[in-house]
Amino acid sequence: MVNIDDFIRPNEWVPDVMTDMGNIIRKWGEDRYFPIRQQVDEDWQEHKIIKPLLKELLVDLGLNAALLPAEVGGSDLPDPITFLCVLGEEISRIDSGFCMACLTSMWAVMPICLNPYRNEKLMEEFGPKFCGRELYMGCFAMTEPAGGADVENYGQMKGRTIQTTARLEEDHWVINGHKLWPSNSNADLYNVVCTTNKGSTDLNDIALIMVPAETKGITVGNPYRKAGMAADMNCDIWFDDVRVPAAYRAHGPGEDFKCWRRNLTIGNIMSAAMSLGVMKAVYEIIKKWTTERTIAGKPLKEHSIVADMLCDIAMLIESTSAWMWAYAREIDRTDLYRKWEASDERFALKTRGLALYANNAVEKACSRAMDFMGSYGYSREFDIEKHWRDQKVIGLWLGGKGLKTLENARYWYDLETL
Ligand SMILES: Cc1cc2nc3c(=O)[nH]c(=O)nc-3n(C[C@H](O)[C@H](O)[C@H](O)COP(=O)(O)OP(=O)(O)OC[C@H]3O[C@@H](n4cnc5c(N)ncnc54)[C@H](O)[C@@H]3O)c2cc1C
Repeated sequence: MVNIDDFIRPNEWVPDVMTDMGNIIRKWGEDRYFPIRQQVDEDWQEHKIIKPLLKELLVDLGLNAALLPAEVGGSDLPDPITFLCVLGEEISRIDSGFCMACLTSMWAVMPICLNPYRNEKLMEEFGPKFCGRELYMGCFAMTEPAGGADVENYGQMKGRTIQTTARLEEDHWVINGHKLWPSNSNADLYNVVCTTNKGSTDLNDIALIMVPAETKGITVGNPYRKAGMAADMNCDIWFDDVRVPAAYRAHGPGEDFKCWRRNLTIGNIMSAAMSLGVMKAVYEIIKKWTTERTIAGKPLKEHSIVADMLCDIAMLIESTSAWMWAYAREIDRTDLYRKWEASDERFALKTRGLALYANNAVEKACSRAMDFMGSYGYSREFDIEKHWRDQKVIGLWLGGKGLKTLENARYWYDLETL
């Protein structure tokens, strides 16, 4: 019988080790997470259930270490975008909020671990913590109170709205500012997007600085109560004369900006993978429901209006899959394609379109599936309701749908004023 593994996945591009990891995660989710999925939503404030589960995937299954160099205990997997697509799909099928927490931990250190921008010294310092036996998590802090989209809109704003400052004092950075909303706000290591020259429009002034959470001068607020994604903790983080060694800057003028842009590209692809994972969960739920539920004397799926909805969901999954895998391959294997670096602006803008399409697709899939589950879809018991609440934010983060639209149009139409 056709199942979620029949949707497009170019197996010849996905190394066996990644497929195996995906299968292990799927089984882990079914055994360990599905039975308590609803309880996770009540644990948004304390993460008493969530933290041990994060340890199981990030530490025991080795996700935190997957992309780190072998010298520090990592697995140094090739084709990182391909790997993230596998993870995004599999973990989001279980719980997209939990997926966000896992992927963000890895995302925070990508600017210092992914080639060609691997910082050996910082890997020596932080790598062993991510590869150790204790849970050690990362957080990538960009968003600020005055606006997340403007911070990310480097094309128009060129970093001039970034209010978090990094001042070099002899051999230390002194950081001051206020970040909010970053995933894993309760993490162990912050990668903080700062400016070395407030108000500047010189992209060389954008700095990515690693800040261990125990550093003096950091205050973390209470978790926000969100509509969904309880497994991802979001808070305010204040930096008040926080001092870290000068070597904790990811790279230096210009290079930090490129790594940040590459992280935005990766964020777009992760958003698509997460949307796909949710859509596959929805596919499974609605297929079972419309097969087993009888309306007007026959299974719900045998009614033409319902078949139309089912067909729509399948097409959304197929189209998003094809698009996502094509971009993943293009970025991982720049040698085979256009030879743009992964940090190239054109990838950042193009992948905005993919993220937007995937966000719209998952929103539609959840909503249409719920329409035909009726009141049962709206109840907690059948999980559609959870996916429907959780997925909404995939479109809201990374600058929201407005910025994603503008940047994608900027790429395809050479916009100059937007
Ligand atoms: C669950 C969750 C996880 C998150 N994780 C992270 C994280 O890990 N790290 C992090 O730094 N932040 C994170 N965020 C914050 C998120 O990225 C920001 O909320 C997002 O970038 C939008 O910023 P904003 O909310 O300040 O909206 P605003 O910047 O105020 O934007 C409001 C609206 O205006 C639109 N818009 C933007 N520019 C334009 C324009 N030029 N013209 C017209 N419309 C425009 C936007 O698309 C948006 O719809 C997270 C948020 C949530 C909810």
